[in-house]
Amino acid sequence: MNAFRTLQAELQKTNTRLIAVSKTRSIPEILGLYEQGQRAFGENKVQEMLEKHGELPQDIEWHLIGHLQRNKVKYIAPFIHLIHSVDSLKLLFEIDKEAAKNNRTIKVLLQMHIAKEETKFGFDEKELIEAMEFYTAEGSSLQHVQICGLMGMATNTTEDRVVADEFQKLKNTFHFIRNTYLLNRKDFTEVSMGMSNDYKIAIASGSTMVRIGSLLFAPSDKTTD
Ligand SMILES: *Cc1c(COP(=O)(O)O)cnc(C)c1O
Repeated sequence: MNAFRTLQAELQKTNTRLIAVSKTRSIPEILGLYEQGQRAFGENKVQEMLEKHGELPQDIEWHLIGHLQRNKVKYIAPFIHLIHSVDSLKLLFEIDKEAAKNNRTIKVLLQMHIAKEETKFGFDEKELIEAMEFYTAEGSSLQHVQICGLMGMATNTTEDRVVADEFQKLKNTFHFIRNTYLLNRKDFTEVSMGMSNDYKIAIASGSTMVRIGSLLFAPSDKTTD
């Protein structure tokens, strides 16, 4: 069995969906997964996503998973399926504006900073609460974004307990936000967490979307396929 089939079989027993992270991968590599049925692909750079979106089948769901600059939102606004990496209120307002211009509602996740590394982007809890208060306020101007959940990246470490604690914290924050701000809505459902090295821990912690690249696209050994 190839890595994709193995992963699919593993995910079938869970409530977790696979986002195939196709950054740096070629069109034929992506088509290889598409032909096996994969439709959700994640990219971390706008330019690369635009090129691939132009060349690949139109029924692909494109997920932006990397840091997004406000001046680039306009390029993806016409077609993006889900932006996982909303890390500031200013960015959220920009997405709302571009979504309105395109007569769309754009689905987003708010990225939380859960790792020890300073380099990773994301909201802290205070900023998250501020964003939720804007979003849920009476007469909120955020009418063209739909906040569907949270995203996070764990510390890059071999210590599973550290990673598990961080994912658990994200899941707890998700429940807190849902119970505090969104109890009467049915569309706050996603926790995007887990990559090639830590997806098993993420699934055990209640991930609904794993973002997996290297494991999926690793060259298969000659005994498989
Ligand atoms: C690259 C990337 C992934 C996938 O990482 P792998 O280790 O290749 O599975 C997931 N999420 C984000 C935000 C990424 O940039």
